Amino acid sequence: MRVMQPYEFERIRKIFYKLKQYRVRYQQPIDPLFFKQEDWVPYEQGSYFGEKNTYYQLKGSFQVPADWVGNPCVLQVYSSLSEWDNTTNPQIKIYLDDTYVQAIDVNHREVTLAEGYQQKAVKLKIDLFSGRSDKPFPLHINLLALDPVVNELWFDFYTLFDSWRAIRAFGGDEAFYQQVLGQVANVLDFRTPYSAAFYESLAKAKQLLASCYLPAHTPKQKVTAVGHTHIDLAWLWTAQQAIEKGERSFQTVLKLMEEYPDYTFFQSQPQLYLSMKTHYPELYAAIKEKVREGRWEVDGAMWVEADCNLTSGESLVRQILYGKRFMKEEFQVDSRILWLPDVFGYSAALPQILRKTNTPYFMTTKLSWNQFNQIPYDSFYWQGIDGSRVLTHFITTISEGYSPRDYYTTYNGLLDPYTIKGSFERYQQKDQHDEILIAYGYGDGGGGPTKEMLEVQKRLQKTLPDMPTITGNHVGAFLIDWQILLRKNLAQSGTANCTLNTIVEH
Ligand SMILES: [Zn+2]
Repeated sequence: MRVMQPYEFERIRKIFYKLKQYRVRYQQPIDPLFFKQEDWVPYEQGSYFGEKNTYYQLKGSFQVPADWVGNPCVLQVYSSLSEWDNTTNPQIKIYLDDTYVQAIDVNHREVTLAEGYQQKAVKLKIDLFSGRSDKPFPLHINLLALDPVVNELWFDFYTLFDSWRAIRAFGGDEAFYQQVLGQVANVLDFRTPYSAAFYESLAKAKQLLASCYLPAHTPKQKVTAVGHTHIDLAWLWTAQQAIEKGERSFQTVLKLMEEYPDYTFFQSQPQLYLSMKTHYPELYAAIKEKVREGRWEVDGAMWVEADCNLTSGESLVRQILYGKRFMKEEFQVDSRILWLPDVFGYSAALPQILRKTNTPYFMTTKLSWNQFNQIPYDSFYWQGIDGSRVLTHFITTISEGYSPRDYYTTYNGLLDPYTIKGSFERYQQKDQHDEILIAYGYGDGGGGPTKEMLEVQKRLQKTLPDMPTITGNHVGAFLIDWQILLRKNLAQSGTANCTLNTIVEH
């Protein structure tokens, strides 16, 4: 029988962070760098500059040292501002040899260098938007070589360790995780980093971690996880800045899609797409290509994620008419989901409008931002004034530091084991459905999903004990499957024993 040991979690966490230190094998600053004023002047790394809402340019060059070959190289770019709010921080565009490669923001600090940039001198150009902060900030730009074995193992370890954190918080076989991670911590040999003994110990650790996943079976707790970046077209910035936030975020999405073949992304709001088409035709063409490949899901029904409290019925109808028409004409997509994650109230006329516009699904999270009234359902048929009903689903994604007992949920989800497990526990219709929906990624200029999230996404497609498994990656498929299952549940149970019995399908 396995027994819980005091301080074992803390001991293993220490070793886990020690492993992370060995992820970077070589490092050197980009030097010299130049800053554009009237003319180009030298920029000393770490020196402070920046007024709010201002654009800057920097340039330099680099060449990966010959003895780094064989190690994956990344360009690391960051400023010292790191408030949680994506919108406050500088947002940066990285050009290599005059080709725009990826954007950088507080959540995305590394650009993986493709092979072609690792064997020659490369021109670096940086376009920087300072963001909304009044504080000057420093910039740091380094060339890093990662140790590929440590890098992979660190994400393996992280996935298991954070699953243990989730199990500790939300219940499950904690002793299993303690035992296996204790064994991993014990085999790791850091005495001579990068020596044969070091790599031998890493190989043993990898094997132990791999043995934790259950063999092929039908998972009991399932997650549809789709990448997303929620962008307010009108909030704390100008209309032009909203367009640029979209452009930078989408460029980062496309770059990470090259690196992660299983990465799929969902985006609403034809107005945002139209802005890309108008101002960034190349980016727009690349998005269209991903839509064709089935990796970029276009839906959401309305032209923008519109206010629904003060708007007239005609305006709501036109939101959907123009929204759906654009998606049909531009992407050959028949939009079926009203996607309003961040709208503060919903007209009771909406179900009728949705039914009559052939939009049978509705998704939001916003009703959970309420300290007084808690709706006991996350999945239900919403009935409007005239009796029309739409299948409604609330995203149940919890935020870091929140528990499933907190009613609050988010559309800016993380994708880590703690969030996945907590969000499953938070779902109020577990007796009806064994699957939740998570839209993960940073919004409002935050660049969407990160490498860390995509590494977890890759690993949790297999099942760990007592953890949910990622089985889907499209919102539309999630809602259609749920509707089919719901019909079956209702047919089997009559309505007597069904928590949805008060709201049967129209
Ligand atoms: Zn918003």
